Amino acid sequence: MKLICIICPMGCELTATQSNDIIDVTGHLCPRGETYARDELTDPKRIYTGSITCDGGTLPVISFKTATMRKADLPHLKQVMRQLTVPAPIGLGDVLYQDDKLTVIATRTIGRK
Ligand code: SF4
Repeated sequence: MKLICIICPMGCELTATQSNDIIDVTGHLCPRGETYARDELTDPKRIYTGSITCDGGTLPVISFKTATMRKADLPHLKQVMRQLTVPAPIGLGDVLYQDDKLTVIATRTIGRK
C-alpha cells in the first residue's frame, strides 16, 4: 500500500506491506511515519470536525473537533452528534462530550444570548 504520511508537512511517501502479522514500512524519515503506516493498515485514526446545536447561545451551533479517534468509531460520533445539544456559554477548548471512544472539543467561544 502506498501512503503519504500526514503527521508533519514533510509528507513522506510511504510503502507499507503486510505479510501475515508482519508489517514492513519503507520511505519514512522518522518513527512517527512508521507508526502512522502501521495504524493505517490495522486501525486507522482520524481527527474529525463539525458543528453541534447550541442552546441559548449567540449562535445556533458551535464548531468542534475531536481528539484523535479510531476511524471505525465514526458511526458512533455521528450518532452522538445527532442527539447532542450543548448549553451556552461555551469557551474555546471546552470539552463538549466525552466517552470511552471519543472526546469532542469546542473550537470557538459562544456567549449566552
Ligand atoms: S515520516 Fe516523519 S518526517 Fe516524514 S512526514 Fe511522517 S512524521 Fe514527517
